[in-house]
Amino acid sequence: MKTNNQHDSNGRRSFIKKGFAGLAGISVLPSVLKGSEEVKAEKPEKKGTFIYRTLGKTGFKLPIVSMGVMNSDNPDLVRAALEAGIVLLDTAHGYQRGRNEEMIGKVVKDRPRDSFVLATKVPGDHLDRKTGLFTEATKAETFIEKFEISLKRLGFEYVDILHLHSVVKREAVLFEPLMNAMIKLKKQGKTRFIGVSTHRNEPEVLRAAADSKVYDVVLTAYNFLQPHLEDMHKALDYAVKAGLGIVAMKTQAGVYWDRERQNQINMKAALKWALQNKNIHTAIPGFTTFDQMTLGLSVMEDLTLTPKENQDLKLGKQLSFNSLYCQQCGKCLAQCGKNLDIPTLMRSYMYAYGYKNPALARETIDSLDLSALPCKNCNTCGIQCTMGFNIQDKILDITRIKNIPQDFLV
Ligand code: SF4
Ligand code: SF4
Repeated sequence: MKTNNQHDSNGRRSFIKKGFAGLAGISVLPSVLKGSEEVKAEKPEKKGTFIYRTLGKTGFKLPIVSMGVMNSDNPDLVRAALEAGIVLLDTAHGYQRGRNEEMIGKVVKDRPRDSFVLATKVPGDHLDRKTGLFTEATKAETFIEKFEISLKRLGFEYVDILHLHSVVKREAVLFEPLMNAMIKLKKQGKTRFIGVSTHRNEPEVLRAAADSKVYDVVLTAYNFLQPHLEDMHKALDYAVKAGLGIVAMKTQAGVYWDRERQNQINMKAALKWALQNKNIHTAIPGFTTFDQMTLGLSVMEDLTLTPKENQDLKLGKQLSFNSLYCQQCGKCLAQCGKNLDIPTLMRSYMYAYGYKNPALARETIDSLDLSALPCKNCNTCGIQCTMGFNIQDKILDITRIKNIPQDFLV
């Protein structure tokens, strides 16, 4: 794996090993912009060393593990994450229909503004899912309106990072109406930095963001099961050399191997694997329990893979065929006569069964313009999937979620 040492630094941290009940009294004062790598906590239970990296040209010095809040509606968990030393909280306009942003806003509102980094994501409207391109109907005004709603929900006049949510093509990254809207919002001080997020075709998106000379950050899927890893590593090098900060998501590749959740991915190993690449400045695993958070924090001191973890990752690659994780390679797109956005449907499937987050699965499906039974009247599905999925079965299974009343998914 290609690496880049320039952004690594070690900061002294208090590492909280036991549960989180006693954390309320601990005062953590990270100064994320002032370059302080020496962050002190009162009443340390164990002296340890967290690894910090600088998020490209933003200058934020972040611990290598941040929090993807999308799967959590528990303010105590977010509070505990911050108390334990996590600095960056990642949310999005659409998560839990806005309640995720509201919850985060309440948790951080009384904290020093420079003690946390707030990132949210707003999608452009009228994205042609098939081509990945924005259309003539896409409006900067709509994007700005959504972002203003996000600011209100969060209760702040600005965020630290605003991402254009979920782009897959170079043209979408460089789509001028939205790019100019983000530049304007940055000039107005409503966001300090801007970026793009991507789940698919990541190397192209990374290169486009670097070439734009406009964006500061890319939030990208990155994990040990991804296809095109060689190209991904080259693109990450290219983006980091251009000064971009890189945040990794989907590091745990679906969490479970199977729909029945009998076989769990070695999450610690998968997270370590991703963070061993020093071009990844921080990762945002989605914690939903205190145990998961403890596990995430436990990699922050040492990224060395044990022999068993190495073995688990190797075995995992063998198990990955027909697992929950869709590689988002897009090879199925041209094969479906009904132009279904299969990669996004498969992502919903992973949210429902791997992340145990049916509400997010439903939100993701609702973002598609789907008929009630999209595969109806297709007698056989001839789609050849890279991961060996029975696409029709999975679509029939996951789209049932459209029939569940929204209230049951809250
Ligand atoms: S071919 Fe399979 S792995 Fe690739 S995007 Fe489609 S569903 Fe996902
Ligand atoms: S069964 Fe569904 S996914 Fe398969 S070709 Fe038909 S519409 Fe597309």
